Amino acid sequence: MSHVVIDNPHGLDQQLAALDLNAADCQGGGTGRRYIPPHLRNKEASKNGFGSYDHKDGGWGGPQRDAAYNSFGGRSDRSKTAFNDRGAGSRGRYERGGFSAGGSSRWMDDSKDDDWSKPTAPNERVENELFSGGNTGINFEKYDDIPVEATGANCPPHIDSFHDIDMGEIVMGNITLSRYTRPTPVQKHAIPIIKSKRDLMACAQTGSGKTAAFLLPVLSQIYGDGPGDASQAAKGGGQDNGRYGRRKQYPLSLVLAPTRELALQIYDEARKFAYRSRVRPCVVYGGADIGQQIRDLEKGCHLLVATPGRLVDMMERGKIGLDHCNYLVLDEADRMLDMGFEPQIRRIVEQDTMPPRGMRQTMMFSATFPKEIQILARDFLEDYIFLAVGRVGSTSENITQKVVWVEDTDKRSFLLDLLNATGKDSLTLVFVETKKGADALEDFLYHEGYACTSIHGDRSQRDREEALHQFRSGRCPILVATAVAARGLDISNVKHVINFDLPSDIEEYVHRIGRTGRVGNLGLATSFFNDKNSNITKDLLDILVEAKQEVPSWLESLAYEHQHKSSTRGRSKRFSGGFGARDYRQTPGSGNFSSSRGGRGTGGHGGGRSFGGGFGNNFYNNDGYGGNYSHSGSVDWWGN
Ligand code: ADP
Ligand code: MG
Repeated sequence: MSHVVIDNPHGLDQQLAALDLNAADCQGGGTGRRYIPPHLRNKEASKNGFGSYDHKDGGWGGPQRDAAYNSFGGRSDRSKTAFNDRGAGSRGRYERGGFSAGGSSRWMDDSKDDDWSKPTAPNERVENELFSGGNTGINFEKYDDIPVEATGANCPPHIDSFHDIDMGEIVMGNITLSRYTRPTPVQKHAIPIIKSKRDLMACAQTGSGKTAAFLLPVLSQIYGDGPGDASQAAKGGGQDNGRYGRRKQYPLSLVLAPTRELALQIYDEARKFAYRSRVRPCVVYGGADIGQQIRDLEKGCHLLVATPGRLVDMMERGKIGLDHCNYLVLDEADRMLDMGFEPQIRRIVEQDTMPPRGMRQTMMFSATFPKEIQILARDFLEDYIFLAVGRVGSTSENITQKVVWVEDTDKRSFLLDLLNATGKDSLTLVFVETKKGADALEDFLYHEGYACTSIHGDRSQRDREEALHQFRSGRCPILVATAVAARGLDISNVKHVINFDLPSDIEEYVHRIGRTGRVGNLGLATSFFNDKNSNITKDLLDILVEAKQEVPSWLESLAYEHQHKSSTRGRSKRFSGGFGARDYRQTPGSGNFSSSRGGRGTGGHGGGRSFGGGFGNNFYNNDGYGGNYSHSGSVDWWGN
């Protein structure tokens, strides 16, 4: 039972390791050593302390790595970096024990100085690769006045700076390298909550910095605690001594995400924050070669990012055991349920070997908090803190929202007009309802001479990645997308979001327009509306009013008609203070919200209603969990 690989039950690795540590001139020679290409013998190793972390390959692997490592062992006298004293020994060991497909973890775990809280040596090349990507252009300074509410027993106080909390040398170093100068609102609250080992249910929209909000404190705890029980398991005490079992990985932390793209984004962030640590992140997702993912897992996996379906597959193949998974994160939980992943999620969390809730630490993130998510939270979380992060987007003046009446037959020509008006260079995201519609529209635009690409569920993994890249880089500044395919993607700097087809629910609308005008940037969202969209009329009207947008008079009269036709709807107003959700455990008038907040305003994100004052009264009014969910289908997470 190990999260690292046991491949050498006879202890040969210990012997090799000893050689590694003692020999100062062993380049290319000695027991079982591999040939080291000349270009790796001195240059890279002596410059960086350690050789070739192969990022293309997803981590430590391949012959190049081995070579560099061996040469590292051979020139430990040469690189006297700050980290050298402790690095020389443990790095050499680490390669064998933790990060090599052919290594054994035993002796690594036995070593006394294998302190996970200490950074391993820096590597310039890796560093450049991980951290060279510029900032996304999001101005988080302007995000500061977004209100955040934390509810639940004994909620730890929030931080204002990353330095307000001790996350250890490795995490702090990587925050600096990432050029994160200050925490985003969700990070200010979530980091201390997670660091104090509390379960968390957080509602925050895309782009608010959720990834780091859970990765930083989780990794910080893993670095502090080391491999723990898992290292005992690694010694073969478990049930996994069979030929296949030996290759089973036992991650310490699992992040579940709905889509491949999102999983990859989280994985990329994880690699940044795992830089110079002993934690090896891995990612598995459907639609890609499973053999390759298995081979990567076998190199060691401490933090696993996964889509639910592929993870179940890996578990059933005996490649992953969750026995030591002490940290569970469900990212974009509402989207995972929308996509029908609930059975797989329950299979992973409840019907296998994962430590039960209360034993593990569980964090759920969701943009919305409908009934299904509340149930999941009840089942997966223990005595959790509920965090509601104010919305940017719908309530922000950053986005100009336009709704225009366009008949289906006119949509294409209208779109061309819009594209011509916005200019060729600005990134435009066009949402359509179906995969077929996406293909058709892409073809049409292509034939009209527009550089465009598309992304939807039927595209191969490769195609989707390529499309995203083309879009982000500006080579194809028009991206046609279906909602599911675009979910959770960090596509920043989108100038214009066009709802070629409007969604049928307002939550999806808010998600979509959140792609533009992300904090600090101005954006434009244009929606084509016709008879087919009458079901969203009232909600759309509310949202436009809330965000102080121009409301077309036809929409107003439509909404009026609509309301009189269907008076069954329980909600009168959707918004309160710009929050995306409410902690359903709070009962109206409990005073938890309003007591300390009377003086605080909305801080100018267009709420119209005072955040503090309106809170206690204007409250989401279900009578707690298990009571009746009066709103058919979904809870009114906008808070009324
Ligand atoms: P979410 O998961 O809420 O959609 P992400 O975690 O993807 O948001 O973050 C959005 C972008 O903001 C990413 O490019 C991320 O690197 C960046 N980011 C996150 N936190 C900070 C911070 N504290 N300072 C600067 N940039 C940040
Ligand atoms: Mg995210």
